[in-house]
Amino acid sequence: MTEQPIREALDAAGRVPSEADLDTLSRQLNRPVRDVVEIGARCVCGNPLVATTAPRLSSGIPFPTTYYLAHPVITAAVSRLEAAGLMNEMNENLGEDPQLAQAYVAAHESFLANRDAIGARSGTGAVPEIAGVSAGGMPTRVKCLHVLVGHSLAAGEGVNPLGDQALEAISQWWTKDKCYCVGAWDTESAAPSRDRSRHVKTQEMQDPAAKRADRARKRAQREAAQGSDQDDA
Ligand SMILES: [Zn+2]
Repeated sequence: MTEQPIREALDAAGRVPSEADLDTLSRQLNRPVRDVVEIGARCVCGNPLVATTAPRLSSGIPFPTTYYLAHPVITAAVSRLEAAGLMNEMNENLGEDPQLAQAYVAAHESFLANRDAIGARSGTGAVPEIAGVSAGGMPTRVKCLHVLVGHSLAAGEGVNPLGDQALEAISQWWTKDKCYCVGAWDTESAAPSRDRSRHVKTQEMQDPAAKRADRARKRAQREAAQGSDQDDA
């Protein structure tokens, strides 16, 4: 494998997921998000577009996909492309256009380099079970356009040729220069309850003061519960 430079649309500060980002992702996906270690891409308004998932989940399971497309306007638009048969067309083009095929292999290698970097940054480390295995059908096929678009958004233009093509093809529904967030997901009711990101969880577990405070809080809750039981009796 040739060395690939790490290409990322967001700088280090922009990638850090805030509590609000994790809530927004849970709302966008309508389920609690897990093991999200970074934000891969953001709307011009700042909302997350792509959830970057650790290459190994907290459960220990290797997770090759990395870039999860979360924004409902984009996921719906990409689903329309899939339904319209764009993947078949892309697979034919890969078979007929050696330059495209070569660029797609480079995208695969770049994806792997990014995933290694994310594993290093998030503390997951190397995940040998998925070494050389990327996602979305790369390096030779197209099996999921959502992954390719997620990769394109996270890496920036010019890295994944087919992700870039798909983004171009959804431009009637979504473009990166505009905010399409208003009304795109439920912001009124409570967010789907979620696990906290591994980053936050790890920090809490390593902090003895936080542990002590948590134990004290639970003890106080137990005592309060017992007290009220006695009052009722
Ligand atoms: Zn927005």
